Amino acid sequence: MPKAAVYQGANKEFEIREFPLTKPQKDMALLRLVASGVCGTDLHILNGKLGIEPPKVIGHEFVGEVVELGSESDTLNVGDNVIATIAVPCEECLLCKTGDDANCVNMGVTNGGNPYDEPHFWGGFGEYNYSPIKNLVKIPKSINPKTASVFACAGSTVIHAFSLAKRANVDLENLKTCVVQGLGPVGMFAVAYLASLKVENVIAITGRENKKREELAKSFGSTKIFSLEKNTFEEIDGYIKSVSGGLGADLAVEASGNKDAFLQGIDMLRNRGVYLVPGQYSNSGTIPLPPQVITFKALHIIGSSQYSAVDIEEYVKFLEENRDLHPVIDSMITEYLLSDINKAFENAKQGKNVKTILVGG
Ligand SMILES: [Zn+2]
Ligand SMILES: [Zn+2]
Repeated sequence: MPKAAVYQGANKEFEIREFPLTKPQKDMALLRLVASGVCGTDLHILNGKLGIEPPKVIGHEFVGEVVELGSESDTLNVGDNVIATIAVPCEECLLCKTGDDANCVNMGVTNGGNPYDEPHFWGGFGEYNYSPIKNLVKIPKSINPKTASVFACAGSTVIHAFSLAKRANVDLENLKTCVVQGLGPVGMFAVAYLASLKVENVIAITGRENKKREELAKSFGSTKIFSLEKNTFEEIDGYIKSVSGGLGADLAVEASGNKDAFLQGIDMLRNRGVYLVPGQYSNSGTIPLPPQVITFKALHIIGSSQYSAVDIEEYVKFLEENRDLHPVIDSMITEYLLSDINKAFENAKQGKNVKTILVGG
């Protein structure tokens, strides 16, 4: 029987359990695992920073192949590769009705079920998954689904943050100097995204010195990389000023999740600068921020959490349009069998892997 990794609670190991497959219900699809990413959010769940009631099959970056459809679909066939999103917006609240379903106030998830209840394979960390057909985004055959799995969550997260910037009339075509704080998957994709916008200076800042991450950021188009271990904030800020005519950054992306990074981001921005903040996903504490700076510099701060199916579609389009990046994306992968999930989490927690993915077998 196929396996799923069952979450047992914070700071506990996953248990590998076998469950039978059933026929997908109406409007549902049965998917076979190709790759399921371990995201920063999953690490937060495991260390107790995000409360989830066990037992659950967590994981929200499932990429799989359609095995069976519970209803006919206009867009999907058996054998297609898809990214499954877990988000189930209510479609009725004010947010949903005004194009903000990513921030639905009654948001549901597909991976909330008890694994001991049918159809067992609710979430991402299983050899199979049941998802509503409308939660599936097709990956064209010309894209390796494993490649698509790498930034399935992080890429869509970044694209959503930029879509909010567009909706706020930020002129993304004329950015000249941008900063990305943090070089985890969200930061890495932000670098690639800014480089695709032909931004002249894409400056990346990483907390810990890490040769591999720095090489990757360079391959994704970063023009300058600083490490807070090696470089002082004054050096970094001085560089940003020097390439921006003394002004500061046009736009910064907070992708580190570190609370102190927020103050530094505020400092690095120019007057009327734009701060995208998709990276503070768990409570990292408070900071002494003088609100006067926001007024005085007339800053534009845009928070962003979650993403919609349209953002995943945009992400897949990005992959189609940036094929030269695929080998770089593939080089980020460290792959584990689903049954080795505890080792995968241990290594991911220690920062050994750039992107951890689980595969079947
Ligand atoms: Zn995620
Ligand atoms: Zn809603």
